[in-house]
Amino acid sequence: PYPLDVEAIRADFPILDRKVGGDATVPGEDEDDTTPLVYLDNAATSQTPDQVVDTIADYYRSYNSNVHRGIHQLSQEASVAYEEAHDRVAEFVGAAGREEIVFTKNATEAENLVAYAWGLNEIGPGDNVVLTQMEHHASLVTWQQTARKTGAEARFIRVTDDGRLDMDHARELIDEDTAMVSAVHVSNTLGTVNPVAELADLAHDHDALIFVDGAQSVPHMPVDVREFDPDFFAFSGHKMCGPTGIGVLYGKERLLEEMEPYLYGGSMIRKVTFEETQWEDLPWKFEAGTPVIEQGIALHAAIDYLEDVGMERVHEHESLLARYAYDRLSEFDDIEIYGPPGDERAGLVSFNVDGVHAHDLSSILNEHGVAIRAGDHCTQPLHDVLGAAASARASFYVYNTREEIDALVEGVDDARQLFA
Ligand code: PMP
Repeated sequence: PYPLDVEAIRADFPILDRKVGGDATVPGEDEDDTTPLVYLDNAATSQTPDQVVDTIADYYRSYNSNVHRGIHQLSQEASVAYEEAHDRVAEFVGAAGREEIVFTKNATEAENLVAYAWGLNEIGPGDNVVLTQMEHHASLVTWQQTARKTGAEARFIRVTDDGRLDMDHARELIDEDTAMVSAVHVSNTLGTVNPVAELADLAHDHDALIFVDGAQSVPHMPVDVREFDPDFFAFSGHKMCGPTGIGVLYGKERLLEEMEPYLYGGSMIRKVTFEETQWEDLPWKFEAGTPVIEQGIALHAAIDYLEDVGMERVHEHESLLARYAYDRLSEFDDIEIYGPPGDERAGLVSFNVDGVHAHDLSSILNEHGVAIRAGDHCTQPLHDVLGAAASARASFYVYNTREEIDALVEGVDDARQLFA
């Protein structure tokens, strides 16, 4: 049985009631051509519940002002809400406190922050950085280029034919010259849940650090950094019922203390003279300029929303949907599904239909009102390994239903027949 009251959840997301197709924006025109929206592009960006939208509106209507500096009441209210958002995020992922939580623009910026502030200073010729073949470009390009700039070698842990990490290869690649291991927690293309605790042990046994990319794990399952001990961990608000424009970098306090700031300017300083500058305390040392105030406060609301639903149940609901989608799509022998078997995957399914380009498939599905993603999902090298230039990806969240997967399968079947 599916554990969530999806009807009640959907009532919090008015966007899910809209229709698409025809010219739905012109009243009375082409009304008959419109179909209900089936939103299955959640791994790219999730929808935003009223509770979060209301929090944003309330911020601008009631206490919009700059943080940290003001003595006046609005600034104090905004500052408290912004600081408490860090506490809430820390609690949500099991961090020790707000010192370990830096707000950034997105997960990508969190990767870059560590690459610039730690990587460029700590990595050198003769070192290596070990990534997985299933890294998102956010991590792959960042560490590849950091290796290039520092004279280090970038190594890639192989993906097995059934979409898992080859841990024997990981043990071969991670050695005494490894400075950083960077691994995606849940692959946004394969749906694989990687053994990040084991990778962290491997890294730490060799005195290397590990950066875990949680962009596809934190929104969808209970995550506690104490359980897998990453040195750095990152995710994005817009994939977890929050707004765009905010990402989170978790870092161990000791490391963040030692690191140089990534950006300089106001808010990140304690004292400035013409000769020198002292940094502000963590995490503000890494949040130069006016920070992401609205977004941070809204992320707090998004976490409240998700915890109200219950992260265990979110995970269970999506796993059931993923398994159902996997089983239904497996009925077609001209469809190739990437990644591990249905009972092991996170809530997404990437696939190709023989003879139908993923972009064509996506536009036919769009005519059915079904929104999926088509392309390389920012994992071009992984697609090279898969032997496909692109793939179609359906990804699920708390508000999706089995009936929506039926609509997906119906649209896919239509496309098969059209191109047969
Ligand atoms: N890592 C993974 C696994 C992702 O799926 C994404 C988003 N597609 C990112 C990193 C980057 O997130 P953002 O674009 O919000 O920085």
